[in-house]
Amino acid sequence: MSTLLTLRNPATEAVIHEMPHATVDDVDAAIAKATAASPAWRKMAPVDRSRLLRRFADTVAAHADELAEIETRNMGMPIGNSRWCANMVADVLHYFSGAVEKHTGSSIPVAGGVDITFHEPLGVVGLITPWNFPMLMASWKVGPALAAGNTAVLKPAEITPLSSMRLAELALEAGIPDGVFNVVVGPGSTVGWRLVEHPDVRKVAFTGSTEVGKRLMKGCADQVKRLTLELGGKSANIVFADADIEKAAAAAPGAVFDNSGQDCCSRSRVLVQRSVFDRFMELFIDASKAWTVGDPMSPDTAMGPLVTAGHLAAVRQFSDGLETVYTGEVPTGPGYWHPVMIATPAYDAPVCHEEIFGPVVVVIPFDDEADAIRICNDSIYGLSGSVWTRDGSKALRVVRAMDSGTLSVNSNSSVRYSTPFGGFKQSGLGREHSMQVLDHYTELKNVFIATD
Ligand code: NAD
Repeated sequence: MSTLLTLRNPATEAVIHEMPHATVDDVDAAIAKATAASPAWRKMAPVDRSRLLRRFADTVAAHADELAEIETRNMGMPIGNSRWCANMVADVLHYFSGAVEKHTGSSIPVAGGVDITFHEPLGVVGLITPWNFPMLMASWKVGPALAAGNTAVLKPAEITPLSSMRLAELALEAGIPDGVFNVVVGPGSTVGWRLVEHPDVRKVAFTGSTEVGKRLMKGCADQVKRLTLELGGKSANIVFADADIEKAAAAAPGAVFDNSGQDCCSRSRVLVQRSVFDRFMELFIDASKAWTVGDPMSPDTAMGPLVTAGHLAAVRQFSDGLETVYTGEVPTGPGYWHPVMIATPAYDAPVCHEEIFGPVVVVIPFDDEADAIRICNDSIYGLSGSVWTRDGSKALRVVRAMDSGTLSVNSNSSVRYSTPFGGFKQSGLGREHSMQVLDHYTELKNVFIATD
């Protein structure tokens, strides 16, 4: 029996939408639709599949403002960021529309004949996404899945499903055939899990917490189901004494407070060389004062609320009683508000090691290059990170030594749809973005043809 899903605006706590949860039968029906749509979609001439995806991208671009408003009301992301996300969704779909005809196989010299490889679509893929960048995370999976010739069933986070539901409508409007891109909305433990256990789903692509990722890995083992995982992080922003300290400090707040810290790539550990620690802190605190918290519908707001009362309580488990060197202000009245916080706690405090997923940053001093690398790698995670230095050789030495998948030098920006994205260690398995992701949405087939 289905139960009612009640969605609230995190900035006002007002109910914005009510709808029934999907049931396991609904998931089975969506998988059946995707299975029925699969043969025609995979056989479609690549140029036609490419054209339909391009039209989907154009349709999203034409509805960017509408999608942005949906996202802000449902998730609390500041409207400027939501617009940026909506336009990036269109760009991601554009990129993968162009990839359809470029993901080529190879011919391999062998004795007695020819050997050729094909990238075959998997069939139906299950896509499970989190609530922190709802439509963006959906596009990162839907774009490559469909481009590779698969059909998809997407299960967005049940608290922020509205933009994903609208994306599926826009796909239909753009001419993507019915059944190719399906959305089911409901709890992970039932609706999401059905994608793991259903034998007709050939792959699960998951973005979410490390804890749930591990559960999915065990669940997929029974059928040796293909699985990619984009999981949690506790990324390090390493600032050496020879860096442009002003620039590093000015950029540091955005790397952790953006999206209220609800970002897997958040640089929530800032490691600063001891000799410039005090100077950096002064500048960092000063720059953080611009991170005003307020109405996410206002274009002047830098940071909105956290997503739900439950998530606010989870973040407060770390921040309540935390001794800080700077704490910002929050609006009064309804809304799931949390201020930005900068702390310099003892290294063994949980706040230095666990993913908080909120606007709380720790700053840790280090002595030299080896010390910075040791602290950086002292984590179960390895998703993202940055290095700030004017010494090019040092920058290269350090990024090569960091156990993280997605890094930047003299910048905190490391995520682009045209470059591989993903984590080391418990931050994930496989990669998203770039042409490489298409390998994760296809099987490699090898055929020998005898000619002698
Ligand atoms: P979550 O793991 O609680 O949920 C993610 C999705 O999985 C949701 O759709 C949820 O309903 C579903 N789910 C939960 N239990 C399930 C189950 N048993 N079977 C199938 N599906 C299930 O994560 P969240 O709280 O939505 O998102 C925050 C986490 O996501 C953070 O840890 C963050 O670091 C991570 N994240 C990672 C990336 C990345 O690219 N590496 C990006 C964004 C978020």
